Amino acid sequence: MKSKHIVIIGAGSAGLMAADVLSSAGMSVDVFESKPSVGRKFLMAGKGGLNITHSEPMADFIGRYDQSDWLEPMIQSFDADAIREWMGSLGVASFIGSSGRVFPTEMKAAPLLRRWLSSLKKRGVRVHCRHYWHGFNQEGSLRFRAAEGEKTLTPYATILALGGGSWASLGSDGKWVSILADAGVKIAPLLPSNCGFKTLWSPFMQTHLGKPLKNISGWVQGNKECISSSEAVLTTYGIEGGLIYALSRPLREAVMATGSATLYLDLLPHSSEAALATRLAHTGKQSTDNIWRKAGLEGLKAALIREMLPKKKWSDPFAVSACVKKYPLTLTGMQPIDEAISTAGGVMREALSEDLMLHSLPNVFCAGEMLDWDAPTGGYLLTASFASGVFAAKGVLKMAALD
Ligand SMILES: Cc1cc2nc3c(=O)[nH]c(=O)nc-3n(C[C@H](O)[C@H](O)[C@H](O)COP(=O)(O)OP(=O)(O)OC[C@H]3O[C@@H](n4cnc5c(N)ncnc54)[C@H](O)[C@@H]3O)c2cc1C
Repeated sequence: MKSKHIVIIGAGSAGLMAADVLSSAGMSVDVFESKPSVGRKFLMAGKGGLNITHSEPMADFIGRYDQSDWLEPMIQSFDADAIREWMGSLGVASFIGSSGRVFPTEMKAAPLLRRWLSSLKKRGVRVHCRHYWHGFNQEGSLRFRAAEGEKTLTPYATILALGGGSWASLGSDGKWVSILADAGVKIAPLLPSNCGFKTLWSPFMQTHLGKPLKNISGWVQGNKECISSSEAVLTTYGIEGGLIYALSRPLREAVMATGSATLYLDLLPHSSEAALATRLAHTGKQSTDNIWRKAGLEGLKAALIREMLPKKKWSDPFAVSACVKKYPLTLTGMQPIDEAISTAGGVMREALSEDLMLHSLPNVFCAGEMLDWDAPTGGYLLTASFASGVFAAKGVLKMAALD
């Protein structure tokens, strides 16, 4: 296959992975990035430990995505094993944590990114930072704003990997939405995902804000999915953390449909309601505090019960155990999109060919979080970004092979 000139816009996980595949196949690749350096969100993802993918069986893995049948062939073509193999080829060892999540041994993203960029450079990939893509001219050429001035380019093919619309300071400002919509591309509105939700805490709860609620389960009224063995953190605005992120899709849907969502928490998921009521029965001269502590209700969990139940019910084991096992929280809104870990919405499946080429813009492909899929944290976001980058790159190669 003759080498063709491919432009990738956006040097995040999806764009760099597309560059990896295309340069390995001998294509001439230029990557354009608006920020002064590449992979800023990837580096941010690595701050608390880079959870790059997940080791669970493929059927469970695929089931984490809202558009699972669309994502399946992409993930199949670059799954968790392939990601670990790719990291290994760059000299970065990985391990599977106790929860099944996969991390680089060093935990951070920076060493992996450094080695990745060096390997791309060796294969001739040219990276141009401080180049902001702002649309197409009348001839369909790409338009960039750079320090040197305006540039236009007409490559053989383009891959847009511009990210979602959260953490705009890291580069993904979501401004591509209006450019593509003007070009006739169908786009589902960008919405916060894996985000915190608002609720109003009473003055009594103020001293507990910032504290984690550990080993809890939760579900959303009207939705059968239950997330177990997770945690959440009470914040000044409401609640956030792993449990809330995992439930952010049904929570968001309820908030958008009715203005609020009811989240139920099971504060002691390892006790049945009946067994808990037995343990909470007042015997002898024990104080309520003591009885609750022995049953596993102390600190923040005890405060939540006191917040919810009137004082006269604190000695009623059935009222307390019912409250512990199905603690209702009314959530009245989402945190702003810019503070979300990821965004739902984006370029819709129907706007794209099977190879991720835009129907309304021939030879322009899309990849990464800018596509209309949603998933919880746990390595699923990076996996789908990488996999769709691989898939779009393979789409370009397929097209070039037919030329
Ligand atoms: C705090 C945080 C923690 C996270 N932790 C994890 C985690 O542990 N595991 C996980 O799987 N996921 C995690 N994620 C999510 C994950 O980082 C993203 O889903 C993933 O990086 C998306 O990759 P992308 O390439 O599609 O987009 P991005 O990484 O956002 O890359 C898009 C690139 O395009 C550039 N760009 C945008 N517009 C233009 C333009 N007009 N011109 C030129 N360049 C442009 C941007 O500057 C950016 O570099 C985390 C996210 C955040 C914010």
